[in-house]
Amino acid sequence: METQLYDAIIIGGGPAGYSAAIYASRAGLNTLVLEQGMPGGQIATSDMIDNYPAIPSCSGSELGQRMQDHATQVGAETAYGMVISIERSDQGVFTVQTDMNAYQSLSVIAATGATPRTAGFKGEDTYRGRGVSYCATCDAMFYRGKHVFVIGGGNSACEEAIYLSNVAESVEVILRRDQFRASRGMANRMLSHDNITVRYQTSIVSVEGDTFINSITFKNNSTGIEYEEHFEAGSIGIFVATGHNPATDLVANFVELASDGSVMVDSSMATQTPGLFCAGDMRAGSLRQVITAAADGAIAGVSAYKYVEACKETL
Ligand code: NAP
Repeated sequence: METQLYDAIIIGGGPAGYSAAIYASRAGLNTLVLEQGMPGGQIATSDMIDNYPAIPSCSGSELGQRMQDHATQVGAETAYGMVISIERSDQGVFTVQTDMNAYQSLSVIAATGATPRTAGFKGEDTYRGRGVSYCATCDAMFYRGKHVFVIGGGNSACEEAIYLSNVAESVEVILRRDQFRASRGMANRMLSHDNITVRYQTSIVSVEGDTFINSITFKNNSTGIEYEEHFEAGSIGIFVATGHNPATDLVANFVELASDGSVMVDSSMATQTPGLFCAGDMRAGSLRQVITAAADGAIAGVSAYKYVEACKETL
């Protein structure tokens, strides 16, 4: 059977990916979105999005679903699977290989977002899933009535702490400096919760235990002094919310990377490889908001359209 040649394959079904799909499809491109999980990407685990214009309050999973539905309505297909590799032939045809299938396209828009950053303490990996988590929406229920720590001081950490405060008995934010990186509004909203406290200028150095964590070594970053605290095994959780790293592995061979590992693109979201565009949190200089990811996707979708039209003219 002959493999179908798409005009545009979009990798990643978050706000950037589905916005790209909407613009590419409406421009007439035969468009396929490849998604490995739930629509929405990173926002799928966000309890509430309250800064997307005209939608004052919506859960991330609902917003993601609505974006997918919109893309479907205008003709984009979605297929599920984990993308393993991208290749580009001398004729400029991309082959995108997933764990299920191979797809071909004249253009590719990568919108793979970013993945959670680890905090770097000893034992973090060992206790992942047994006391260490990277997603409050996913794991909060395991800590109902317990004490949890949240590492980080950005908007994500504040959101995680607020979410956890509704489930856990108490939440303690571990802040390595004496200042939050989060917006003042977000930090104040978090601090207004009675059961959330902050341990300033503190890092977690290591955790120990048997099946579950029963001791944490903290470091006071102002004095350099380390101290250990003991807990009943299974009575605490540590939620890491230290930011994200751009997910660029699939495109690394085709693009120029910035010093923070994100992808360099021009104002049309084009990379140095003809026909390959990158949009959203993975690209350099992104504000990493839903609205900017969506805007990137729109630009990339239109750029892919112009690129594909030019390709077809030369065929
Ligand atoms: P972020 O803004 O980069 O903040 C990361 C936080 O983690 C900082 O407080 C940082 O400390 C701390 N940190 C980093 N590495 C650490 C380590 N190894 N140990 C301890 N602490 C560490 O990341 P983010 O909060 O994920 O936000 C990313 C972007 O998404 C931002 O632009 C943010 O505004 C946006 N966002 C927006 C919303 C919203 O508007 N609703 C929600 C979530 C995220 P330092 O400050 O000391 O570096």
